[in-house]
Amino acid sequence: MARAKISLRNGITVDYGATTYALDPKGPAGTDYTFVSHAHLDHVQKPNPNSRVLASKETRVLARARGFDLGRTVESAEDVKLLDSGHILGARAICIGDEVLYTGDAAGRDRAFMGRCRTKKARILITESTFGRSNYVFPPVSQVVKEVNSMIGLLFDRGRPVVLMGYALGKSQILSHLFSSWSPFYVHERVAEINEVYGECGVDLKKGKTVKADLEGLSTGPWVMVAPMMSSRSKFAQRLKKEYGAALVAFSGWAADPGYAYSIGADFAFAVSDHCDYPELLALVKDVSPEEIYTTHGFTSEFALDLRKLGFDAKPLSGFQAFLSDY
Ligand SMILES: [Zn+2]
Repeated sequence: MARAKISLRNGITVDYGATTYALDPKGPAGTDYTFVSHAHLDHVQKPNPNSRVLASKETRVLARARGFDLGRTVESAEDVKLLDSGHILGARAICIGDEVLYTGDAAGRDRAFMGRCRTKKARILITESTFGRSNYVFPPVSQVVKEVNSMIGLLFDRGRPVVLMGYALGKSQILSHLFSSWSPFYVHERVAEINEVYGECGVDLKKGKTVKADLEGLSTGPWVMVAPMMSSRSKFAQRLKKEYGAALVAFSGWAADPGYAYSIGADFAFAVSDHCDYPELLALVKDVSPEEIYTTHGFTSEFALDLRKLGFDAKPLSGFQAFLSDY
């Protein structure tokens, strides 16, 4: 059976048999295949036209809506399986032979209409480690939903509107799903655009009233709005606070850090993430039970060190320039 060889050329490249794969490359790659894990802009670029693009249909549609044409995409190939990584709509992990599992960005639990990352046994695991430090433990989503709903209730009693802020692609759609029973329900125009694409892909989200950057037509009094993450110093946030008395509520895994809400000027923050928290990263590694692990993104060194203490052969990917695994 062929052994995979991993190297860092224009991002992560896997050689398996006679075939080469670029995993979320930073630019057009001259490999046989280019794998685009999901449509967040740090993972999407215009691919080399001679490289076949492996991506889900949803990733192709979302990337196009954000101005990136992935061209013709395929969802499977010989030796390749894409697995739902649960991160945002269409996000996939890739399995090459029984050799390599690359998670891309991966979620560790169900949130609203999104599920958790699927895994498969593999000899080499390349895992994200965004929250790969032991203090990142997120509360259950159901607990957060309960707390947020009672907070909104208290603010409504005082006549105050509430702005729920999350990353425009992914988190905002989950917020739109979880909190759309409040009325009036507004959606920032940037979120509305993406909600519509989710609708085209079969995820129906309540439309709500669209709010433009100039706030035209936004009523006074209590309401709920889903908006992209923004600094409280932005003009939009300043107007919402001063003219409407709105409370700004942020949703991010970084809310597990004490002082996060203060640092971005939000009134409240909740740790809801589209990534795995630390215990979920450990569970993912155990599910895959790999011989070799490479960590990417976030706390790469810290997480690799913790895995080595548990007896795994783990290395941060950032520290390697040449071939990582000669067979
Ligand atoms: Zn992402």
